Amino acid sequence: MSSAQVGKTELLNNACGFVIDQDPGPVLVVQPTTDLGKAWSKDRLAPMLRDSPALRGKVAEPRSRDSENTVQHKKFAGGHITIVGANAPSGLASRPIRFVFLDEVDRYPISAGSEGDPVSLAIKRAATFWNRKVLIVSTPTLVGRSRIEAEWALSDQRRYWVPCPFCGAVQTLVWQRVKFREVGLPPEEAVYQCEHCEELIPAHRKGWMLARGEWRAEAPGSGKPAGFHLNELYSPWRSWGETAVDFMAAKGSPNTLRTWINTALGEPFEEKGEAPEWEKLMLRREDYPIGRIPDGALALTGMADVQKNRIEWAVYGWGEGLECWLVDRGVIHGDTESDDKVWAALSEVTRRAYHRGDDGPGWPADAFGVDSGFLSPRVYAFCRGRERVFATDGRPGPMLPMIGRPAPQDITWQGKTVKSGVLLWPLGTFALKVWVYASLRAAIDGNVKLHFPMQCDREFYEQMTAEYLAEVERRTGIMDREWRLLKNRPNEQLDLIVGARAMAAKLGLDRYTPERWAELRAMRVPEPKPIAPASVVVAEAAAVAEASRRGAYFGGRRQGWLR
Ligand SMILES: [Zn+2]
Repeated sequence: MSSAQVGKTELLNNACGFVIDQDPGPVLVVQPTTDLGKAWSKDRLAPMLRDSPALRGKVAEPRSRDSENTVQHKKFAGGHITIVGANAPSGLASRPIRFVFLDEVDRYPISAGSEGDPVSLAIKRAATFWNRKVLIVSTPTLVGRSRIEAEWALSDQRRYWVPCPFCGAVQTLVWQRVKFREVGLPPEEAVYQCEHCEELIPAHRKGWMLARGEWRAEAPGSGKPAGFHLNELYSPWRSWGETAVDFMAAKGSPNTLRTWINTALGEPFEEKGEAPEWEKLMLRREDYPIGRIPDGALALTGMADVQKNRIEWAVYGWGEGLECWLVDRGVIHGDTESDDKVWAALSEVTRRAYHRGDDGPGWPADAFGVDSGFLSPRVYAFCRGRERVFATDGRPGPMLPMIGRPAPQDITWQGKTVKSGVLLWPLGTFALKVWVYASLRAAIDGNVKLHFPMQCDREFYEQMTAEYLAEVERRTGIMDREWRLLKNRPNEQLDLIVGARAMAAKLGLDRYTPERWAELRAMRVPEPKPIAPASVVVAEAAAVAEASRRGAYFGGRRQGWLR
């Protein structure tokens, strides 16, 4: 775990060079995306292979006709280096690998496609090698959401101790002891104050200190992986003054300060646990009618929350970049245990087609989740055999994907048990709530990606902001975070958007390319028609009505849409 500018990528390059020259074996290098992987291969790996005398000639130059050596695959005597993106699950799970090198893991997607955590997937490939080596490097992001922070917490936590040029006492370099204003210096001339003798160490002594330092483990223990932390104060390429100047520029806003803490100090940012203020969110409501598909929304997902005396539900629309609109919502009152009318009404809601305007094609939710936390047998029976309706179950773990692998459930219905009668879909509510709250906060800052109509009242917003991220200490002593309910606040609306977002993930919308969105738009937003003779217009209208009747609104499904 480290800041930027301390040679993190060079460490990875050196590890690759060592394998090629000294200890050949299969290597997997994972970058956050395939494009970043190719860029690393061309801009960092290739020059090293070309310019290091020990490596020159060991890997052939990539040639278009030579399948042995491409940008993403390089063969050498006794091994190969395969370079993949964490966004491409196929590359993460195939042949066995002895060296797994994972770069910038905090920028990996939560899930590699539908395959799950890309870090676990990649590490699994080394399982059969007794002499495997796994290298995980990253600049951290958010506390509790940072993969590298989690790995660091499990490691023996080594920091670099350097001696003071004045008194010789060793210490780790921390931002609190970088001094400028306090000692009458401009930020660019910042110095370091020794924590033992309190002398001010000028910036030019840094090299002397680094050369005499050593790694010390703060949490030693047998069997623990070695963990190393470095911040920018150790960087040979950045002076303390440069770091101080960056700090002065960043400290004004939480967003820039967050980036500075991540990239300069190499520490995860402690996000404020408070829920976004509902009063400010209400100011961002928009004037669009509920029950209609807003411009921009191209897919619909729904979620239903079953309580004892009612079912609350909501339908959300999704557009490019996962811009999101509340399309419709409602409450079905009645005893959910005994009143079949309640379930008949929910059935109608899941099949209800929405329209963009008065004409135009309409379609119902492409995926509709029903939370099975309460009355699960009834929910399973309801979801069984219904296309596009899915039984869901929220799971709180911070590292879980937004939607996990489904598990078959037995259902008991009218005295009979149906083995594996329905699939239960686990929802990673931690990641989903982080997404919702990040989007709500962005909306307060004026970057509105989540749209709500004027119809949403104070109660709606209070429910939407009913939880906060709490810091908790696990039995292992590791600090962890979990979502907690604010006192006595109902939270149905938060659960509903969380479920609808999970259904969007289930449809694969997170992986849609601009081209795929364009195709979906072409299917669901008809081009304005040229003025045509009345007879043609009537014929077309009849065709649209017929298509709609036949269910062609979902015709795309047959072509592999929205799966
Ligand atoms: Zn000293």
